[in-house]
Amino acid sequence: MTLAPDSLGPTICVGEILAEIVATTVGDGFSAPTPLIGPFPSGAPAIFIVQCGRIGGAAAMIGAVGDDEFGRVNLARLKREGVDVSGVITDPELPTGTAFVRYRSDGSRDFVFNLWTSAAGRLVWTKAVDKVVSRAGHLHVMGTLLGNPVIWPMIEHAAQVIKARGGTVSLDPNMRKELQADAETGARMSKMMAMTDLLLPSNGELFVAAGMPTDSDEEQAIERLFAIGITEIAIKRGEQGSTTYGPADTVTHAPAFAVKEIDPTGAGDCFGGAYVAARRLGMTVKQALIYANAAGARNVTVRGPMEGAGTRDELDAFIAATGCRV
Ligand code: ATP
Ligand code: MG
Repeated sequence: MTLAPDSLGPTICVGEILAEIVATTVGDGFSAPTPLIGPFPSGAPAIFIVQCGRIGGAAAMIGAVGDDEFGRVNLARLKREGVDVSGVITDPELPTGTAFVRYRSDGSRDFVFNLWTSAAGRLVWTKAVDKVVSRAGHLHVMGTLLGNPVIWPMIEHAAQVIKARGGTVSLDPNMRKELQADAETGARMSKMMAMTDLLLPSNGELFVAAGMPTDSDEEQAIERLFAIGITEIAIKRGEQGSTTYGPADTVTHAPAFAVKEIDPTGAGDCFGGAYVAARRLGMTVKQALIYANAAGARNVTVRGPMEGAGTRDELDAFIAATGCRV
């Protein structure tokens, strides 16, 4: 078993909780007035944990919101999906973080963030956080946060506490161009990878994680990552589906579902939330990949970062009704 069973305690995710406001037209950025829709509950860690809870995994969130409507929208959603929010702090002064997003015609995205100058940036290790971490069974780490001086020490400490009680760690390297890595981040990444049981890279990130050029041989990259102690690697390949390497030298592929993409945000996080929950609930790699592909695909068919996250029943219905890409 790669991951600690759900019965050991909830999967937790630490990081930003945001209100997302999306431009309803395709185009370049926000240099002129543009129609918008939102607020949608968002933030990569929040999307992950909502999908994890929605599919039936025990789940808890650690983060901070402002004492405002954007914060309450997020708290209400997390609670609705059965996510334990006792480790979510309400900051009395700073507002909930926001992300304005607009899609370009080539599929890329422009963002305007108020992230680390919002409540999200003032997260601290409170007694409530300690209580949640001390009974957690698994930690999911967002690679985007390794450069964050406030959040990173919390993640590192949480990883140590959880591993010490027999829990496990998954890592999504997830480097985005808007959130540039500083020099220290590489060392932090190596440290976190040494604690990682399950790695969830996208295609190119696999090689970055292995410290190899992106045209390297995939199996060599996998070997290198297994050598540092990672035991399962699930590669996200967008419209090409996903592949898991390990345990016991197994390679399992699951094709993507054929859907019309409306809003690509959150696919990777829904994939991760579903995959981790499925594995912790005892499903096989194949079953977990199918649910994870379904969770990613279903989420991109709905506007809003987590609006398409599915329950187990919804994902079963989606799988039954949707063909695969060939
Ligand atoms: P993100 O773009 O959110 O950072 P990611 O790059 O980490 O995500 P993706 O590979 O884009 O992850 O998406 C995760 C999974 O979701 C894919 O492996 C696939 O199964 C599914 N998925 C994503 N986009 C699509 C799509 N357009 N059609 C079908 N399935 C999709
Ligand atoms: Mg993607």
